[in-house]
Amino acid sequence: MKIIRTIDELRCTVATWKRDRLSIGLAPTMGYLHEGHLTLVRAARQNNDRVLATIFVNPTQFVAGEDLERYPRDEERDFALLEQIGADAVFLPPPGEIYPEGFSTYVEPPAAAQGWCGASRPGHFRGVCTVVSILFNLTQPDRAYFGRKDAQQLAVIRRMATDFAFPIEIIGLPTVREPDGLAMSSRNAYLKDEQRQLALSLTQTLQQGVERFQAGERDAQNILKEGTEAIIAIEGVRLDYLGVVDENTFQSVREIKPGNLYIGAMFVGATRLIDNRPFE
Ligand code: AMP
Repeated sequence: MKIIRTIDELRCTVATWKRDRLSIGLAPTMGYLHEGHLTLVRAARQNNDRVLATIFVNPTQFVAGEDLERYPRDEERDFALLEQIGADAVFLPPPGEIYPEGFSTYVEPPAAAQGWCGASRPGHFRGVCTVVSILFNLTQPDRAYFGRKDAQQLAVIRRMATDFAFPIEIIGLPTVREPDGLAMSSRNAYLKDEQRQLALSLTQTLQQGVERFQAGERDAQNILKEGTEAIIAIEGVRLDYLGVVDENTFQSVREIKPGNLYIGAMFVGATRLIDNRPFE
């Protein structure tokens, strides 16, 4: 597996692949890889001639006061995992490679970025859209793989790829969970034992909402009221939001239809966790 840290080397590698008419699958990540990330890389491996993973803790998508500095990192372990799956290359640029001096052009995110994580983390999706656009331009993939765990991000990227006419198929893959249901996340590493238990309440609340839907409830307000009450009753967690939304627009819906998403974000101590479940 090639370990690439510069844009020059990346461009050379991509140019060689393009010259040989090889298809490219891209899996963008912030590293500290877990099974959720690896699912993206495996899917890319199955459907493309060449697989490129990126590891970049993108400073522009962190809001002031967030965990940019202490975001977990373990390059060697990440390389070993990627190599095992058969990734052809990993691109991990230093921040100055992506944002050289004088950088000042940003992507204005689509409407789906308003509300929810977009409201709680002002500027977050602007940073996401900007870095993903740069990565798309640099790597020119045929397919790019994203997790549905970050459902709003997926909706935003799909819209951006359409609006900006990136000739890239955007593929969303299901959330990979721990055996007890907790959505895998690099940030789970922050959780102490007792917090790990509290973190489950978000997943469980979303799951209960889906079960209410399966039992016939269609009114989003009823489900949200129940969910909110369940979470605010728990000591040690702070609810950021719960919502019932259309999976593409991220607009709230009143009457739930199959395919709509039950989304949530909450803090356990200083750790912010997100999750979602489709109504099905
Ligand atoms: P991150 O490193 O957290 O920026 O995530 C990189 C990619 O992996 C994004 O497309 C995420 O949606 C995806 N991802 C993260 N966690 C999971 C998970 N538990 N299941 C599926 N995909 C995930």
